Amino acid sequence: MSEPDPQLFDKIVNLSKRRGFVFQSAEIYGGFRSTYDYGPLGVLLLRNVKDAWWRSMVQLRHDVVGLDASILSPPQVWEASGHLTNFSDPLVDCTTCNSRHRLDKLADPEVCPSCGTRGSLTEAREFNLMFRTHAGPVTETAAEVYLRPETAQGMFINFANVLHTSRKKPPFGIAQIGKSFRNEITPGNFVFRTREFEQMEMEFFVPPDEADEWYDYWCRTRMEWYLDLGMPADQLRLRPHDADELSHYSSATSDVEFLFPWGWDELEGIANRGDYDLTQHAEASGEKLDSFDQASGERYTPHVIEPAAGATRTAMAFLMAAYAEETVDDDTRTVLRLDPRIAPYKVAVLPLSKKDTLTPTAHEVFDRIKGRWMADYDETQSIGKRYARQDEVGTPYCVTVDFDTLDDRAVTVRDRDSRAQDRVSLDKLDTYLSDRLD
Ligand code: ATP
Repeated sequence: MSEPDPQLFDKIVNLSKRRGFVFQSAEIYGGFRSTYDYGPLGVLLLRNVKDAWWRSMVQLRHDVVGLDASILSPPQVWEASGHLTNFSDPLVDCTTCNSRHRLDKLADPEVCPSCGTRGSLTEAREFNLMFRTHAGPVTETAAEVYLRPETAQGMFINFANVLHTSRKKPPFGIAQIGKSFRNEITPGNFVFRTREFEQMEMEFFVPPDEADEWYDYWCRTRMEWYLDLGMPADQLRLRPHDADELSHYSSATSDVEFLFPWGWDELEGIANRGDYDLTQHAEASGEKLDSFDQASGERYTPHVIEPAAGATRTAMAFLMAAYAEETVDDDTRTVLRLDPRIAPYKVAVLPLSKKDTLTPTAHEVFDRIKGRWMADYDETQSIGKRYARQDEVGTPYCVTVDFDTLDDRAVTVRDRDSRAQDRVSLDKLDTYLSDRLD
């Protein structure tokens, strides 16, 4: 097992800011705690993570369809789902230093982790994590609405709509990517736990007697997704919940965990939710949320297997897993060994010099590439420095246009990981890159 680098966390936070992955939100006003803005590189990384998820969960499957439900929702949804009563964390205050903590996350429930005092923590009180606001000009209870704390309920309340319009029947799934909001007591560890974040969730509806089998299937399939995108096997594990961790309606839940610099922590939860959600919403709304089984001629309420992942959290885990420092000719180079599918830029076009003679050809090369692959164009500083800059943000290939290009119509392509360079004729460049990137 590889030991986590104790400096890795600071290095990632630093790189994120320095190279434009993630900025503190409202920084010019002193920063707004626990909210982050994704910069030019971060927005590409995050989008690539979401696209890879959507491709594997929706595009490549005949049995899953997509959805984009609203973030604002009426209290009835959260009343029926149980969130209004149960979606809370146990909050304790320290009477010595006034810090606040989640009781269930304390190493020792008797000791304040901020000041170390024993016996200074108050009795726990339940703190509901949902953000509440008002729709329209009146601030009375009737106008109360909630920001969704998960995307999942959108799938349950649209179950009948999707069933009827998509002509699917169980086993089938509804997938959604989008923002969720939780008024976390202790946000932290950079984008790991924030009050506003993005989720990638799928609700897979199955006949009750197939639930166990599908649960195993989704645990395996989701683990494979991370591994396929380059997460090292020794930094990833599937941890089944103990009986006392399970929600009352779940017969089984497993977390996909990544070895973060502070230890193993959750990227995704895969749960067998039984018929809880559809039953709750059917009862509360009076609508039929069930399916017809042709073989038995009976109606039944499907059971649900839910793989629920965090996009923002996972994007950071990919950054951490990819980060490497290596010594090359007595120099240290930083390289993000991101899978090309996740890397913000796939290619960088680098004219060897800023001289006008090279610019038209370099632009021509950029124009050939840009329609197919997200590409960067950089003509400042020495070529060595520019290679280093691209290594540091994980660009798999650099294409250098030099003075010979003007005569031989060929460019130098440099590989991020091996640093090997190939001379490739311009008319073969598309094929060369496509063999390696697609
Ligand atoms: P935790 O125990 O860390 O609070 P959870 O078990 O409540 O998380 P779920 O409700 O299962 O989380 O949400 C599914 C996924 O959404 C999580 O695995 C995580 O990746 C992501 N997620 C949940 N809360 C946050 C948050 N505050 N910030 C960033 N991502 C989050």
